[in-house]
Amino acid sequence: MRLDTLAGNAPLKEQLSAQEKGRGLSHAYLISGPSGSGKRTLARLLSAAMVCINSTEKPCGDCPGCKKVFGGIHPDVIQVGEDGKDITVGQARQARSDAYVRPNEGKRKVYIFHNAQNMNPPAQNALLKLLEEGPAYAAFLLLTENPGSLLTTIRSRCEALSLVPVSPAEAEYELARRFPQLPREARHAAARRCGGLLGQAVAELEGQEDPGPSQEEARRLLELLAGKSRLDTAVWCVSLEKWTRDQVEKLLERSLALLRDALALQRGASIMTASPQELPAVQAAAALSAKRLLSMAGLVEKLRKDAAFNANVGQLCGGLMAGINAG
Ligand SMILES: [Zn+2]
Repeated sequence: MRLDTLAGNAPLKEQLSAQEKGRGLSHAYLISGPSGSGKRTLARLLSAAMVCINSTEKPCGDCPGCKKVFGGIHPDVIQVGEDGKDITVGQARQARSDAYVRPNEGKRKVYIFHNAQNMNPPAQNALLKLLEEGPAYAAFLLLTENPGSLLTTIRSRCEALSLVPVSPAEAEYELARRFPQLPREARHAAARRCGGLLGQAVAELEGQEDPGPSQEEARRLLELLAGKSRLDTAVWCVSLEKWTRDQVEKLLERSLALLRDALALQRGASIMTASPQELPAVQAAAALSAKRLLSMAGLVEKLRKDAAFNANVGQLCGGLMAGINAG
């Protein structure tokens, strides 16, 4: 399985990968660990693997199923209690009746129960019936900080996955991947402070960053390269002309990092900077030839230098459009 966006927890990842290759993923998991330990990340990866339509390593991150899960819009991945409120018996019953409606798109339906420890006994009993009698295509991921507060009958029907805090080095590696634009010292300090609970460090650093439009548009640039439509490229380049030079410079910087990621991916090396949101675009770009990627990286690097030497936004956008269309 492809679980690298979950930091640390190597034994658990190996266990899941072996299971997926062998008898296949289980239909119910109890994912436990302290707040910030990666429960949601793991639930997202598992649900994507379950609806992934590619036969290669799952979740591929590239197929429509994976993209919808990572975008939070897959109709067959149902979140229960995501708002942090207690899960009521009504919600558990609703999940039960919904489970008997066949999947919309894929072969499976995945139900993610957040804060499962906050379910009262009637709600847990309704869930238990679903775990025992639900259709074979339905899978259940129960997320909890305190597995001991769930009924023994529920626990016995789920496979336990316990997340543990990551080492400072693992935390720093992951933070460098997610926040390449922040100073190294800030990431280092956050990695030390979080005590291995990466989610806490991420929340802290998210408060410090101002991604602006550049992050989103760098991803768009890679999609355009992979899509090869001259018209889309032209429309997009023109839309950048209303930006400030500083914003275009940031866009070029981020694009260069993602292009290098695409090259790394092609070589089978590990990706250093792409976030889960950026990964599909990087994967699409990795399907281009190495020559094309290298020439694009060269172009972006040149434009970055031009920007530093006071080229104006119009010149930068023009250079970008000409360079993309030349390939
Ligand atoms: Zn996939």
